[in-house]
Amino acid sequence: MDLESAKIDRIEAFALRLPRELPYLGALEPGVRVTNDGYFVRPGNASVYSIHDQCTLVKITASDGTIGWGECVSFVVPEVIRTLINQLIGPLLVGRSVHDPAQIYYQLYDLMRVRGFFGGYYHDTLAAVDIALWDLSARVAGIGLSRLLGAGERSRIPAYASGLPGSTLDQRVQLALDLQRRGFHAVKFAAAVSHEGTAREMAALREALGANATILCDMHWKYTAPQAVALIHQMQPHNLAVAEAPCRPEDIDGQARVARAVQCPIGIGEELRTSFEFLPRLERRSIGVAQPEMGRTGITAFMEIVALCRAFHTDVMPHASIGIGIFQAASLHASAVSPMVSMHEYQHSIFDANLRYIEGNLRCEQGWFQVPTGPGLGVVPREDLLRDCLIR
Ligand code: MG
Repeated sequence: MDLESAKIDRIEAFALRLPRELPYLGALEPGVRVTNDGYFVRPGNASVYSIHDQCTLVKITASDGTIGWGECVSFVVPEVIRTLINQLIGPLLVGRSVHDPAQIYYQLYDLMRVRGFFGGYYHDTLAAVDIALWDLSARVAGIGLSRLLGAGERSRIPAYASGLPGSTLDQRVQLALDLQRRGFHAVKFAAAVSHEGTAREMAALREALGANATILCDMHWKYTAPQAVALIHQMQPHNLAVAEAPCRPEDIDGQARVARAVQCPIGIGEELRTSFEFLPRLERRSIGVAQPEMGRTGITAFMEIVALCRAFHTDVMPHASIGIGIFQAASLHASAVSPMVSMHEYQHSIFDANLRYIEGNLRCEQGWFQVPTGPGLGVVPREDLLRDCLIR
């Protein structure tokens, strides 16, 4: 069957809960309460997390039997996304051509804009559907996704290792050294769990990793603009490469003030989903490094955001969130055809553990992500995943 005549036959959504030994960002702080569904609040940044890894998968089957897979982030309550797909989006898309994923994305975005759904769960849902449609399109055409997206593709993308899930500064420095020995010369630490002090952790990492290591700090939206400037100035003598999320996401002016006051680039974008959200921040030059998250943007919006960054001469380091590797693969394909992408985040504590849930040659080794080969995304979920990890 050719691309023109293939139609969407069925859309199914799966909310997944994957066990993990240690919660994301490390052990729970003393006194932290976990709810019956496994949710807890990190005191370091007042954000809610799950003790499990959770995500939502979408499976779209075409009339010729070809299957496309998508995935989006679902830190908490993935059942919301499953419901939106099974009850609303799936039934609307049955019978549509798989020919133009972007057109379908724009129409789905239109459905809810006048009700004020410009992002949040609704857009995360669109991200999963959009990735599945692009995967399906490429598979029906018999080509890899990056080939469908554009020319000039790269087969591998530089990676920086993200997160040091140790309880003490000593343990986190050792983790960074282990990563360096494994060939990762760029590493990011998290202010939310810098219990001994963020500036002190920056100094300790520089001392241990040496002058040539690239060190980024995720400041986790914790600070007012003046506080963020003061803290970045403390880290700057140790050659901080990127200061990520210095102040609250809504404080666009604060982000711009920080960007003007410090020497290192400000990383922003993992919480944003569309070019509409990136544009005002790019216009104010508050983004030094854009960090779009494929599990929230989907492919169509991701490509728009990267094109916008090119117009503003802004570096892109895509974010990598909790998932089994489907949206990670999509992010690598999109990065492979995007010259503004200089490095991709590598969430080693999630990525490596969850490779057991997928088939395909998705790898991150010696400081490099391999872009999966084969048709579509080049990866598919393993069947036992849907048997063992499904939230009923
Ligand atoms: Mg971050």
